[in-house]
Amino acid sequence: MPSHGQQTWDAVVIGAGPAGATAARRLSNAGASTLLLEKQSLPRYKTCGGGVPARTLQLLDGLDISPVSEGHVDTIDVSRFGRHQFRKRSSRPLAWMVMRDRFDQYLTDLAADSGATVRDSTPVQSIVENGGSYKLETPTGVAATRHILAADGATGPTARWLGIDSAPTRSAAYEVEVAAPRDALDHWHQAANVDVGYRPWGYGWVFPKDGKLSVGVVNAPGRGRSIRKSTDRYLTRLGLGDADVLKVQGHPIRYRRSASEPVARGRALLLGDAAGLADEFTAEGIAYAVHSANLATEAILHAADPASSYTRSINREIQPELNAARTISRLYYWCVTTWPWLALKTSKHFNYLWRAFFRVMRGDSTYADELGRLPGARLARSLAASA
Ligand SMILES: Cc1cc2nc3c(=O)[nH]c(=O)nc-3n(C[C@H](O)[C@H](O)[C@H](O)COP(=O)(O)OP(=O)(O)OC[C@H]3O[C@@H](n4cnc5c(N)ncnc54)[C@H](O)[C@@H]3O)c2cc1C
Repeated sequence: MPSHGQQTWDAVVIGAGPAGATAARRLSNAGASTLLLEKQSLPRYKTCGGGVPARTLQLLDGLDISPVSEGHVDTIDVSRFGRHQFRKRSSRPLAWMVMRDRFDQYLTDLAADSGATVRDSTPVQSIVENGGSYKLETPTGVAATRHILAADGATGPTARWLGIDSAPTRSAAYEVEVAAPRDALDHWHQAANVDVGYRPWGYGWVFPKDGKLSVGVVNAPGRGRSIRKSTDRYLTRLGLGDADVLKVQGHPIRYRRSASEPVARGRALLLGDAAGLADEFTAEGIAYAVHSANLATEAILHAADPASSYTRSINREIQPELNAARTISRLYYWCVTTWPWLALKTSKHFNYLWRAFFRVMRGDSTYADELGRLPGARLARSLAASA
C-alpha cells in the first residue's frame, strides 16, 4: 500500500476542525513534521451555531479572523419560550459569528502555510500501535507517526480504537439555517437570542450571520427525539416559520465530566470534542478545542511523557471550567424551569451575573473564578449537585 510520505511523521493530526487545524499549525510552526488528515472534502459543513467566544482569539495566538467573520454579537436577548423578554449589552464583543466551513478552512489553510501537509477526503480507517510509533491506514495509503493528535470530533472513532474512550455524557443539538427576511436580520443585528425553559436543561439560540440566521436548540441527554419539534416551535415563535430553510442538521455534543475520564495514552492525545471538552452551560466547544490544541502541542514538543503531561494540563486548565459550567448550568436551568417568572425577573435585574458572564465570554475571567466569588459558593455547588 502507498504511504503518506516516506518518513515517520513527528505527528499525525486526525480531523481538520478548530482543534486539529490549530494543533497542526502550531506543531509545524515549531518545526515538527505534521500530517493533517480530514475525512471530508474541504471546505466541509459542520453543524454548529458558529459563535466563537471572544476569548478564543487570545487562545488563537491573536490570529486575525476578520477574513472569515460574519460580524459579532455584543447583545444577549433572553426569553422563556418567547416571553419575559429582556436585553443585556456588553461594552465589547462577546462572540464572533462564523460559518464553520469557512472558519475551519481558514484555520486549515494557516496550518498548511505553516508547513503542515493537509490531505482532505482521507478518513483514517484503522490504527496499529507498534513499539512507540503508530501506523494509520487510510483509503489512499498508510502514514507512520510518532504522535497522534485525535481531533476527530464528538462522533469520531479514534478514541475507541486507541482504547482511550470512556462512557461520555452526550446531549443533542439541532441547528437550522434560515434565509431570514430583512426585518429579522435588522432585529438580530449584533444580538443573539437565548431562549430558556427547556427541561431539564438546554436553550434555544439565534445567531446572526451574513444574510441568514442560525437557529437551534440544545437539550439535555435523552431529549434527542423531541429536539426537532422544539426547534420548529421556536422558529414559529420567532416569526420564522415560513422562512427559507437553507440547512437542517442535528449533531451530538459530548461532555467530559470528571478528571478521571482519559484524554491520552502513550503518544496519542484526544483534543476538543473527541475528549468531550464542551461545557454544559452554553454547550460551546470551540474555545476549549483550541485551548486543548495548545496544551497538546506543548506536551508533544516539550514533555518526556506527553500523555501524563497533557492530562495534567487539561485537568488544571480546562476541567475546572467544565466543572464550574456544569454547576452553573444545573443551578440556572433548575431555577428557570422551577420558578420561571421569578428566575427571569431576578436575572433581568441582577446585573452582577451578566457582567460576570460577559467577563468569561471575553476571556477577562473564568467560570471557576466567578463561581468561587459568589457568596455561598460552596452551598451553590452542593445545591447544584443535588438539583
Ligand atoms: C448544533 C451545534 C451548535 C454548536 N454551536 C456552537 C457555538 O456556537 N459555539 C461553540 O463554541 N461551539 C458550538 N458547538 C460545539 C462545537 O461545534 C464543537 O465543540 C467544535 O466543533 C469542536 O471542534 P473539534 O475540532 O474538536 O471537532 P470538529 O469541529 O467536530 O472536527 C472534527 C473533524 O474530524 C473529522 N473526522 C472525523 N472522523 C475522522 C476520521 N476517521 N478521519 C479523519 N477525519 C475525521 C470530521 O470530519 C471533522 O472535520 C456546537 C455544536 C453543535 C452540535
